[in-house]
Amino acid sequence: MVDPLPIRLLKAVVRGAWTLEYAVRRTLQPSRYALAGACGGCAKCCERPSIRTGLFTRRLRRLRSAFVLWQRWVNGFELVEVDQQAQHFVFRCTHFDRGTRRCDSYASRPFLCRDYPRALLDQPWPELFPECGFRPLAKNAEAMLADLERRGIPEEKRGELERRLYLK
Ligand code: SF4
Ligand code: SF4
Repeated sequence: MVDPLPIRLLKAVVRGAWTLEYAVRRTLQPSRYALAGACGGCAKCCERPSIRTGLFTRRLRRLRSAFVLWQRWVNGFELVEVDQQAQHFVFRCTHFDRGTRRCDSYASRPFLCRDYPRALLDQPWPELFPECGFRPLAKNAEAMLADLERRGIPEEKRGELERRLYLK
């Protein structure tokens, strides 16, 4: 269902707060990766949106219920499973039309949808969907490529390192 006006307004306020928080967080703790490429609109990231949470949200019943309710009523995310190992809540998005692969409330989509896949760059080895048009790029890629060149590493091995270290 398309977001009604009160939900759109509420989401705009929350989005503003998250945008500010992440701007500060990323200034203080920059990722070692930049984001290269562009969104190709495959909508793979809409199939099972997931949110990483703290231990308290996963373990404390009331906090967890409040979090799940908020996601349901504000963001339109229905809980599918809690992945304790990956510390993620996995959802089904009620705004996502699987037939057309479109979002019915794109203009009011939450911060996490707008930010995807930037948040993954905080991980040591970010893994994006193979379909995704974005890719991580190591910020020191140029220096590392020059170093690999200097060491005379065989081409095949070098290609593997370039891929695994996100140098290209
Ligand atoms: S709100 Fe829209 S952009 Fe976000 S997961 Fe749902 S369908 Fe995708
Ligand atoms: S998975 Fe990547 S390319 Fe596909 S819609 Fe999401 S951000 Fe865009």
